[in-house]
Amino acid sequence: MTILLSPTDNVTATLTINGESVVGDNSFDVINPATGLVFATAPDASPTQLDAAFTAAQNAFGGWQRDEDLRRNALRNAADGLGAAIDRIAPVLTAEQGKILSESRREILGATSWLRYYADLELPREIVQDDEKVFSEKLRRPLGPVAAITPWNAPVYIGVAKVATALRAGNTVVLKPSPFAPLSTLLVGEILRDVFPPGVFNVISGNDQLGPLMTGHPLTRIISFTGSIATGKRIAASAAADLKRVTLELGGNDAAIVLADADPEFTAAGIFGAAFSNTGQVCVGAKRIYVAEAIYPELVDALVAEARKARIGNGADPDTDLGPLNNLPQRNFVAELIADTLATGGKVVTGGHVIDGPGYFHESTIITDVNDKSRIVAEEQFGPALPVMSFTTVDEAVARANDTKFGLAGSVWSADEDHGADVAARVEAGTVWVNTHKALSPRQPFAGRKWSGQGVEGGPWALEGFTDPQLLYRAR
Ligand code: NAD
Repeated sequence: MTILLSPTDNVTATLTINGESVVGDNSFDVINPATGLVFATAPDASPTQLDAAFTAAQNAFGGWQRDEDLRRNALRNAADGLGAAIDRIAPVLTAEQGKILSESRREILGATSWLRYYADLELPREIVQDDEKVFSEKLRRPLGPVAAITPWNAPVYIGVAKVATALRAGNTVVLKPSPFAPLSTLLVGEILRDVFPPGVFNVISGNDQLGPLMTGHPLTRIISFTGSIATGKRIAASAAADLKRVTLELGGNDAAIVLADADPEFTAAGIFGAAFSNTGQVCVGAKRIYVAEAIYPELVDALVAEARKARIGNGADPDTDLGPLNNLPQRNFVAELIADTLATGGKVVTGGHVIDGPGYFHESTIITDVNDKSRIVAEEQFGPALPVMSFTTVDEAVARANDTKFGLAGSVWSADEDHGADVAARVEAGTVWVNTHKALSPRQPFAGRKWSGQGVEGGPWALEGFTDPQLLYRAR
């Protein structure tokens, strides 16, 4: 389980079960997407090890749920511990995921903000009735072990966000990252191993077969999942058999609507960042752009200029702006969507090609003249290829943005903020930004509409998904 980042770096990744470092019964290879080469192995937890993790989480649940001060202090210590380990985790995250080092550092810093936010948050306590006959209040009760399952695009941020919320509410956690980027999460487990009482926070990794074993485990009481819509549906079906609670944060196909009065340079820079950061592999990335025809040519030119300016390379190199795709199937998928675009009349105005050589690199690609039904518009590309379409009326733009099963987020760009907000309110998505895109924070409710999700992450609202209500009724 030794990770070699450079000849001088040695990192050992093990499972965290019941507060202990546990070597996996098996292991699997982890590839650096910037080189296409195996650079480490990760533990492949056996069903027995998975069972041990859930048993530990179950055993720790009683004491943990009763001690609120312990929970708050531990979350603060976890934030400190994680913050202090940025230099250790960030290079590993870049090596396994591909994102540039500064983004890895931001991701880890962002994760600490979730721990601090939930440490400081008061748990809601609502008085239902208070009179001479009755005093009753609605409390929230934790559920038990959480199966937290994350995707490969932002494993530390997404994993720690789940952990912070679940633990604050009084649950215990078994966290599993994607096999495409498992090491940074395993490191988080190692760093936080001593911060929480044994069994409160467990981290396991393994191949895709581990996920269904987690969601089907009899001790799992809630599944907190972030990933694709297809997997989300499978998880919802598997949870139904045991009426496990489920929170699903799923795929997005965010529309950005650019109104005629928007400033093209400012808007193009904002949209380019929102669409191409992490090489387009962001759930709330801008993925379809609808531009008022009056400024369409100008906006396309400005986007093309941004795309040509961004330097593609190994994320560990400080001169790189955009890293590789995380894995070969994902790069092949993006290439397939571009081929489909070209076959159905779309035009590639810049980029369009896989970059030859080692690693999973792809040119930053801007596509125009594309039909709304074409796959690059209708599906989630999750990569560096952006379709940009023109519209005639705002009603038409809103209708086209909403003509989808996706409903994660979106944005509207306008010199008139109030008009932008009016249009934004009509977009069928859980979050809609005005003159920005992808602004996330632990204090905001984040919830996909339609097929993009079920349940809320962030703010006091997320605690509801990690608890059941209880009415405590006192007769007087
Ligand atoms: P994925 O659904 O393939 O995998 C996600 C996780 O689920 C992985 O850990 C995987 O091992 C596990 N898994 C796979 N099959 C499973 C099963 N049957 N039961 C339980 N677990 C299973 O997703 P991905 O390719 O890793 O991530 C990309 C997707 O995630 C994109 O669609 C993206 O939009 C979405 N995403 C959504 C959000 C959000 O907050 N809404 C955030 C990031 C990514």
